[in-house]
Amino acid sequence: MSAPAAVRPVSGLRTSFISLIQWIDSDFGAKDLDQLKAKPNRVEWVRTIPFVILHAGCLGAIWTGWSPFAVGVAVFLYFFRMFAVTGFFHRYFSHRTFSTSRAWQFVMALWGGICVQRGALWWAATHRHHHQYSDEEEDKHSPRQQGFLWAHIGWITSARNFPTDYRRVKDLARYPELVFLNRYDTLVPVLFAVLLFGLGKLLEHFVPGLHTTGGQMLVWGFFISTTFLFHGTACINSLSHVFGRTRYETGDDSRNSFLLSLVTLGEGWHNNHHKYMGTVRQGFFWWELDITYYLLRMMSWMGLIWDLRPVPSEAYDASKHLPASKPGQ
Ligand SMILES: [Zn+2]
Ligand SMILES: [Zn+2]
Repeated sequence: MSAPAAVRPVSGLRTSFISLIQWIDSDFGAKDLDQLKAKPNRVEWVRTIPFVILHAGCLGAIWTGWSPFAVGVAVFLYFFRMFAVTGFFHRYFSHRTFSTSRAWQFVMALWGGICVQRGALWWAATHRHHHQYSDEEEDKHSPRQQGFLWAHIGWITSARNFPTDYRRVKDLARYPELVFLNRYDTLVPVLFAVLLFGLGKLLEHFVPGLHTTGGQMLVWGFFISTTFLFHGTACINSLSHVFGRTRYETGDDSRNSFLLSLVTLGEGWHNNHHKYMGTVRQGFFWWELDITYYLLRMMSWMGLIWDLRPVPSEAYDASKHLPASKPGQ
């Protein structure tokens, strides 16, 4: 898209400078939002640095080695945090598919913060944009429009996609505690990494039988687990619009995949979700495994969340289903 005539494009050097400051204060330069949007949609090298650090950190295992405990923590933290991505960032903050208290809403934003996928408001604003323009030219991460690699990871390094568009999340921006976590979105991940390292140090000293160390907790618990978590989540932007079966006509390329639902605790039923995005459940049938939904149900039994939006009965009306999946699936 070309820039509106009145908008002065931001120079490359200035964009890089803004990107650096935004590591600390993600709302810095927010007044330049429209100017940033006028920039071409391409990889911004400063924005790639956090991803390089994240992936390079995994190589730390060469020095720290591994232990069954450290690997177990990595696997646990993958699923513990994937639930926050799917249950909270996606099904609550983006789609408001259930209700909760202000206190538990804050806990969900904090829990989501340790996923290292930026703040709840940025995540929700970006995702709402995706549903509005799914697989159209305006979509930030469409395999159809910009190719698989861009949809998977490239888009997130573009300066255009960095600022939080608060206009899309007015319902959430009413809460200063959520805005704070969103604005200073590196705070929680850094504290989480330091905590893991400290925990490893304590275990090394007090429970030597576990054969783990501070370095192992940092590399396996933070870097390796977070890298897998990123790619697991990104699969929904890339693979879920390429691979799987189509049940509903949605006008986009969203698909249903059992395999992806395993990796993402139920988000693989992406075609169901694009058709009925307002429902808390994404696996519509008993055989459509949706662990996030089961966990959210448990939370509702505990009284932490309520008013879970059900699947509309029309979703089960066979006449609305496509007669066959699209070719090539
Ligand atoms: Zn989608
Ligand atoms: Zn969604």
